Amino acid sequence: MTGPRCRRKQRPSGRPGPRGTRAPQHPTPDAGWTARRAAGAAGAEARGRDLPPQRKPAKPTAPAKGRPERGDFVQLPVPIIQQLYHWDCGLACSRMVLRYLGQLDDAEFEQALQELRLTRSIWTIDLAYLMRRFGVRHRFCTQTLGVDKGYRSQSFYRKHFDTEETRVNQLFAQAKTCKVLVEKCRVSVQDIQAHLAQGHVAIVLVNSGVLRCDLCSSPPKYCCFTPSGPRCFCRSPDYQGHFIVLRGYSRAAGCVFYNNPAYADRMCSASISNFEEARTSYGTDEDILFVYADS
Ligand SMILES: [Zn+2]
Repeated sequence: MTGPRCRRKQRPSGRPGPRGTRAPQHPTPDAGWTARRAAGAAGAEARGRDLPPQRKPAKPTAPAKGRPERGDFVQLPVPIIQQLYHWDCGLACSRMVLRYLGQLDDAEFEQALQELRLTRSIWTIDLAYLMRRFGVRHRFCTQTLGVDKGYRSQSFYRKHFDTEETRVNQLFAQAKTCKVLVEKCRVSVQDIQAHLAQGHVAIVLVNSGVLRCDLCSSPPKYCCFTPSGPRCFCRSPDYQGHFIVLRGYSRAAGCVFYNNPAYADRMCSASISNFEEARTSYGTDEDILFVYADS
């Protein structure tokens, strides 16, 4: 427990806007987080003087020379889609996954958001329902089936806590009936790698304050994932929930590959130990949404 600045897991992107609106975002200095959605690396502009050259997505599961075994190196061609607002990283991840599966229809996606009322705060369980809505096979693993009541006392959430608690607990309670697969379980890196090796992907809740990309030359600026306002949490070690899409790994390099919806132009990579620390960090409940490509 790290005090009042800790953020609750399933609301990773800060304070939601007023009901029915999409709050304007809190721009970051590198201008990489503007209200635009890039539909892949091709459309991305060069940004920020301290950013690395654009990296082209690698071909899927093609072992590089010298890498002996199938399954030692996986890099799935998951398209990159940038989030639009400070709260919708989970939706951007869902779009990436659906496009990877060839099931993203923008009009239908918008309709689904309306049906599921995903216009405010997004919890991991919401993303599971979204996958279900598109008929996508999935499995949501978490350490807490519902909302952690310990969260209520935190001032940042007090205003919305009761509404959200009721809504989210209802989603958990109705999951089985709605054919949304939720399990209380712990997942290992080996489980995740086996999943990816079969061409499947996963949306993972991480503490973005912990996750470090080895490909980005400067530490990512995560102000946008905190409540908008004058305070900057860039250097805060506290929990800042953020969704990413896991798309591969290298056993030889000991790293994972992922798409960070904060960016429109790159695939990111973190060491396995750092990734593990980020996804098991306090506040995440180790939420991971496995999505299957054979849906
Ligand atoms: Zn990166």
